[in-house]
Amino acid sequence: MRNWERSQELFEEAKQYIPGGVNSPARAFGSVAMDPIFMERGRGAYVYDADGNGYIDYVLSWGPLILGHAHPDVVAALQSRARLGTGFGTPTELETELARVIADAVPSIEQVRLVNSGTEAAMSALRLARAYTGREIIVKFDGCYHGHVDSLLIKAGSGALTHGEPTSPGVSSAAAAQTRTCPYNDLEALKDLFAGEGEQVAAVIIEPVAGNMGCVPPREGYLQGVRELTERYGSVLIFDEVMTGFRVAWGGAQTLFGVTPDMTCLGKVIGGGLPVGAFGGKREIMQLLSPVGAVYQAGTLSGNPLAVTAGHETLASLSEPGVYEALSARTEQLSWGLLRAAESAGVPVYATRVGSMFTTFFSEHPVYDLAGASACNTDRFARFFMGLLHRGVYIAPSQFESGFVSTAHGEGEIEQTIAAAEEVFREL
Ligand SMILES: *Cc1c(COP(=O)(O)O)cnc(C)c1O
Repeated sequence: MRNWERSQELFEEAKQYIPGGVNSPARAFGSVAMDPIFMERGRGAYVYDADGNGYIDYVLSWGPLILGHAHPDVVAALQSRARLGTGFGTPTELETELARVIADAVPSIEQVRLVNSGTEAAMSALRLARAYTGREIIVKFDGCYHGHVDSLLIKAGSGALTHGEPTSPGVSSAAAAQTRTCPYNDLEALKDLFAGEGEQVAAVIIEPVAGNMGCVPPREGYLQGVRELTERYGSVLIFDEVMTGFRVAWGGAQTLFGVTPDMTCLGKVIGGGLPVGAFGGKREIMQLLSPVGAVYQAGTLSGNPLAVTAGHETLASLSEPGVYEALSARTEQLSWGLLRAAESAGVPVYATRVGSMFTTFFSEHPVYDLAGASACNTDRFARFFMGLLHRGVYIAPSQFESGFVSTAHGEGEIEQTIAAAEEVFREL
């Protein structure tokens, strides 16, 4: 059995100065009834904590590290870039290079603006969509997460369609009043909503593969249906690909499913582990942004040379032939291995996978939406998490998160993970 004595000491200290000891709540390990682990370093597929324990890592900084930890090319590029200065508050050629790669890869993006986080990307995309349409209502889906933007911290109350109810105190009723929510993967519910007030809908924002209630793929034809509906009503369709962009495929979920939104939000992988977000879309929409247009949006450190270098170097690696095929094959091997291990131990699970995203839901039923995900056995998940942790496998400390595989995960790590899971499933 491992222990986390040093992590516990560090946590006690951190709690004195940082609310809850963490700078982002998902790190608190709240849903697995354990104190957070303080990590110290990472290399390839492995992370090492403050007590010296090593783990095969399927969290990967919550998605960005698609090349694994401390990839030599990324580290070298950052080192040489840092020596040249970390920012000037002027444009740099590096920004154009990253923007060009993104615009070439992502079908919906003609122009793109770089920001510092996924939250910023979503917030700015909404402002722009509202300005472009002259409308105010935003539609989002239960269980989809778009960062901590006020108007998107909304979940449904009872019933399929409700007026927005804030999920968090501090979100004003005015911010919530312009948000509508629908169940994910339910085209009929969205049609009903549009039949009522479609003419006032500025934007529909959606994760084309939901990743923030666990990995929940879109049902056959669902994204196409959302595209048709938004087109018919003149609403801006925003794909939030902060998680899926350059993760599930080169160019994101929109290339995988062949559905092109009007705007796209990016983050995570495009920063290669440093803070980068982006939002982009049709030139006609993007040209409304200041300084060309009147929609204000800005950032002191947006597109800073270090972050952009990490992103550019990461995308350069990903553009090599065969990278995504190999990632998908590895992840499939893992996902099937986990499913078979659960079945042979008699533990009911539902396994999902898209590209290198995967989730093992502790559910007897398929999971298509938040209701399905919420019905999972989270106690059993917590025991699964702990069992894996003691065997040197680190998955996200919540049933409602996607797992990630990196290019640094080899056959050996996958087999070791499945072997550990076989033992844990038998104990459940
Ligand atoms: C992570 C995530 C965000 C928020 O990004 P931050 O960089 O944490 O602000 C937004 N949308 C989706 C789909 C995400 O997965």
